[in-house]
Amino acid sequence: MEYIEMHTHMVSRTTDDYYQMALTGCVAITEPAFWAGFDRTSADGFDTYFQQLTEYEPKRAAKYGIQYYTWLCLNPKEGEDRNLAQEVLWRIPKYLDHPTVLGIGEIGLNRVTRNELKTFEEHVALAIQHNQLILIHTPHLEDKYKGTAIIVDTLLSDARIDPQRVLIDHAEEHTIGMNLEKGFWTGITLYPQTKASPQRAADMIEMYGPERICVNSASDWGPSTPVAIPQFVMEMRRRGHSDDLIRKIVYENPIEFLSQSPKFQLPRRIR
Ligand SMILES: [Zn+2]
Repeated sequence: MEYIEMHTHMVSRTTDDYYQMALTGCVAITEPAFWAGFDRTSADGFDTYFQQLTEYEPKRAAKYGIQYYTWLCLNPKEGEDRNLAQEVLWRIPKYLDHPTVLGIGEIGLNRVTRNELKTFEEHVALAIQHNQLILIHTPHLEDKYKGTAIIVDTLLSDARIDPQRVLIDHAEEHTIGMNLEKGFWTGITLYPQTKASPQRAADMIEMYGPERICVNSASDWGPSTPVAIPQFVMEMRRRGHSDDLIRKIVYENPIEFLSQSPKFQLPRRIR
């Protein structure tokens, strides 16, 4: 089944992973900027990273017929350093007109500190100012509920925010209802240990229905898999769900959300 991977970090994956994704039906990828597993020491490091995301990765993906897009930001973990954050925020606008940049992300909170919140608010302001879509990272494990609630409240307190243009990612059983109820899009991340499994994702779809929900792998440098979406497709089929329903979640929903950016297109195929 064709699918769109809304959240993956291909900079830390191999070319074989692109190959496996293409073989399993992946037609497009969106890659948020993230924490590389170690702290970058300067704003110049981010410039290099943004160049890798906007110039190098689209070409690597294209070799496998996969359309590639990215989101830019300074990630929540590094957002704790306010001086670095301001320097990086100042550099982001020059990349926003690039044809493969869809918006600002993945922004949010990690340890839910005052500094992180300030950096988050500045990213949101930047997105509004440049009319960008927003992709949100929510904290892991014990910080998940509190962090998601603060993110939702912060976004809703700004009248300029249209929840339809924001996807709140890494939702779990105790946060998905809050995201959907307030009108946001939400993502369920299929990631071993710290996030959801294909089985838990299928349970959530059965409880909440398919509207405004996407699934993704968030595959990166940690234990994770770039073909988590095909595993979710298998689990949904095993439970007897129709291909129409599954296709809505893994293909049509991402198109509906991402097409709010005029830049988003699927690969051209001759039919
Ligand atoms: Zn991520």
